[in-house]
Amino acid sequence: MSGNDENAASQLAGRSRPSNRAPVEWNLLASAFLSSELRTGELRIEHSFWQPATGHRPLTTASDASDKLLSDELWMEEALRSAQRALEAGEVPVGAVVVCQGRVVGRGWNRNLTDCDPTAHAEIVALREAGRTLGNHRLGDCELFATIEPCAMCAGAAVHARVRRLVYGADDPKAGAIHSILQVVNHPGLNHRMEVRGGVLAGRSAEILQEFFRNRR
Ligand SMILES: [Zn+2]
Repeated sequence: MSGNDENAASQLAGRSRPSNRAPVEWNLLASAFLSSELRTGELRIEHSFWQPATGHRPLTTASDASDKLLSDELWMEEALRSAQRALEAGEVPVGAVVVCQGRVVGRGWNRNLTDCDPTAHAEIVALREAGRTLGNHRLGDCELFATIEPCAMCAGAAVHARVRRLVYGADDPKAGAIHSILQVVNHPGLNHRMEVRGGVLAGRSAEILQEFFRNRR
């Protein structure tokens, strides 16, 4: 953690925080948090911002794409509801759902603090529940919806589960393993191919993170 980071973190904790701090600080904090350390409650400030996702658009007709986007937004609303549960539990608010043939078969939100479990990211929790629901560790007919670009662990878990399609909200410029810092899904060295769409309800996904850090002030 750099000196600047320590200052920002101590300000967040309410120590020597200037009263005229601009609201943009919270955008910065929200943009910063998604390192694994922050998922487990340790603050680290990075100078990067939430960004609209780029690329990863499926090749479909305009009409198909429009229908798909609408349905993606509906499932992302479910993931956002899960993120809200994390927020209420004092966890970093990331949510995920697994959808199979038009129904939710797995649901998860970050439980790192609750379970003292470094692997309890929303996506992992949702994938585990989906496996139990379907009685299968392979989830080849499933789509994973996550409010934030999955990290390397969660992206890897989605590959192992053979998830058919991944949809996520905001990019994570700090830890995202779809395209931001790594490319785990659809890595040329891996056999499994997954359809990916980013940027679905990205603003809402980022907003709930901002609320989290605002409340921690
Ligand atoms: Zn993760």
